[in-house]
Amino acid sequence: MSEYKNYLHMFNRFFSKGHLASTYKPVFLRALLDIGDFEDSQKGDKLIGKEWITHKDGKILLNLNFIAVRFAKYYWDMEYSFRLRQSQDPQDANITRMVREYHDPAKKPPTIKELTHNNMEQFRKQVITKSIKPEVLVHLKTDMHEMYEKIDSNTISFDDDIIEFLHVNKTLLKKGLNHVLAKYLEKLNPMTIQISNKIDYEKATRKTLKNQASLAMLRWQDSKCFYCNRKFEKAHVDHVIPFNYVFSTDIYNCVLACQQCNCIKSDMLPEIKFFDDVIGRNEDISNYLKSTNTFYSKKSYKILFESCATEYNGGAFFHP
Ligand SMILES: [Zn+2]
Repeated sequence: MSEYKNYLHMFNRFFSKGHLASTYKPVFLRALLDIGDFEDSQKGDKLIGKEWITHKDGKILLNLNFIAVRFAKYYWDMEYSFRLRQSQDPQDANITRMVREYHDPAKKPPTIKELTHNNMEQFRKQVITKSIKPEVLVHLKTDMHEMYEKIDSNTISFDDDIIEFLHVNKTLLKKGLNHVLAKYLEKLNPMTIQISNKIDYEKATRKTLKNQASLAMLRWQDSKCFYCNRKFEKAHVDHVIPFNYVFSTDIYNCVLACQQCNCIKSDMLPEIKFFDDVIGRNEDISNYLKSTNTFYSKKSYKILFESCATEYNGGAFFHP
């Protein structure tokens, strides 16, 4: 059997398993898919961590740092952008502990590119030795043992037709892996919406409100901040229920706020009295919502607020 068919066989076997013990394997395999871009005429040059791949004598030598940056990015986003639980016991995940140790609360999670920088070398080393090796590679060895060979402590090798295989099948495999991940996370985060989009969020672009909608809001609010009621210099569109929870921009969940309120509120829910004001505002603009074909249900919106308070928000609610 050619190696190509062998890979197909391995992925098929992986997908046909009914049950997943953790997110590690699909996250690792998803990181691996990027190798398929290595010799792509358009994407190859831009491939982050390209320096960690060597193509020689029919083999691909892969330095595990290539996987580590992608692997860490997933868990960092899940922990700090989307707050999606990854296991029953959040304490037992090594990778999450490492991410917490390195996280700067004043900053957003780093990009994959930033994770390749020299100042993250120590972090990557920990990810490789404490998570990727003991928590992923050991298990892949039993499940997908024909897949790779160990070269040294930081390098594994593949037959080079994996490039073509991953390149040709990337979309399909990524969709499959995302589906497996989403299914697993839905069980652990039953009240959280948009899980499959959050998993694949690099594809998702953050939609902004149409100009027309912003102008309408200026009128409704008389150019005053929704929260502190002061006239603002510059209006900021605020997602009442945080964007990273709802993962969409709909006018019924948007208000205009001054810079200060918008900044402090950040990804918090507002106190319930402000939410009640939004509900009232949405009743006032019901014709506008209808005219823009926006689906809105007061009941669902209230449930969303409660779910966000339980699953995402933590204890503090914003007030100006
Ligand atoms: Zn304000």
